[in-house]
This record gives sequence, structure tokens and C-alpha cells, in this order.
Amino acid sequence: MKDSVIVLVSGGMDSATLLWFAKEKFSKVYAISFDYGQKHKIELSFAKELIKEADVEKHFIVEVPHLKGIKGSALTDENIQVPSEEYPEGPPITTVPMRNLNFLSIAASFADIYEIENIGIGIHSVDSPYPDCRAEFASSVEAAINASSIMVAKKKNRITVWTPFLGMSKTDVLKIGLELKVPYEKTYSCYRGTLPPCGECATCRQREEAFRSLGVEDPIKKIKR
Ligand SMILES: [Zn+2]
Repeated sequence: MKDSVIVLVSGGMDSATLLWFAKEKFSKVYAISFDYGQKHKIELSFAKELIKEADVEKHFIVEVPHLKGIKGSALTDENIQVPSEEYPEGPPITTVPMRNLNFLSIAASFADIYEIENIGIGIHSVDSPYPDCRAEFASSVEAAINASSIMVAKKKNRITVWTPFLGMSKTDVLKIGLELKVPYEKTYSCYRGTLPPCGECATCRQREEAFRSLGVEDPIKKIKR
């Protein structure tokens, strides 16, 4: 078993699965979540409950207010609607500029101080429309983190950006999670922040498709406001 990991947990199904997967692979598991002014802030309350059940070493919740201030994304800008259609060719309007770069660098600060050698992020599809969810992004950030780490400079070790789901589909990720008995009723994916989830936004559709393709009912559907 490897030593320690800090997992980025949004409250959605991918990061929840990663958290449960991390518990199998690492002896010490930390979690970090971000309040970045997302409209679907409800995901944070799901993340808190989920992480309680995961029983991690520590759950850090960090405010990232500048992402809200910049606006320009349907996830943070009140003037832009979350669209109902599937992902287009280019980066979707729900892309938050440099979100994962911000998050990973913040997680790396915690990794440096708590001497955590792995930072887990639940990115999966190789050709994600989100630029900061791709393999090239993860390897570049890993290089930058190692080049700027106090711990690495002192101990001559490495920090790994751990992306075990890279190359998988959402259905593949769900399959792993069902085997690990991830409590999906405590996860939340909808970009619109409604309860029950809207069922129309791209992330709702992807989640629904993953559950449908495995012939499993999504337990979030039983939760009502
Ligand atoms: Zn939705």
C-alpha cells in the first residue's frame, strides 16, 4: 500500500469513486473541496456528508473567490444559463477558466506542508472537451508542482498527480465505484444545483447514461427537496 494521497472531491460521482479507490490504495487519505462560487454549491454539502462517510484523515474546504469574480463560465456567472444540450466540440460554456490548475496548485500547497506525496484528481476521458481535464494538463501540472515544491527540494522525492481513471469512460468509473460500494446517493452532479437534479444538463445526462448502461438505478433520483 502506498503512503498518502490528497483527493480533490467536488461531491460528484467521479471524485467520490476516486476517494473510495484511494482508500484501497493508500494508507493515509486526505480530501480537499473548493467553494469557488459555483451555482451548484449544493455539491459542497453533498461532499461534506460523503467525506464523513469515507472517514479520511482530514477534509480541507478552501474558498476560491476569484473564480466567481472573473465570471465568464455558466457555472459561476449568473448571467449565463447552464445549457441543456450535450457537450459541443470546443470547450463548453461550463468550463471555469483554469479551475483544475487553481485547485491542483492549492492542493499542492497542502501536500507540501502535510508531506503528502500524491494528489488525486478524477479526470477520466482522454478527449475531454475541458482542456484542464486532459492527460497533457495533468502531466504538465505535475512537472510544475515538483519544480516548486518545498518537500521535493528537501526530501528529493516526487509528488505524483494521481489520475488512475484517465482513459476511462464515466461508465468504467461507475463500474469501479459500484464494486467499491461508493454511496452514490451522497453524490451530486447537476450543474444547475436543483434537487432532484435537472436531468437535462450535460453532466446529468452523462451520469444518467452511465447508470443506464450498467442497468443500475441512480440512487440520487430517490432524493427529493
Ligand atoms: Zn442537471
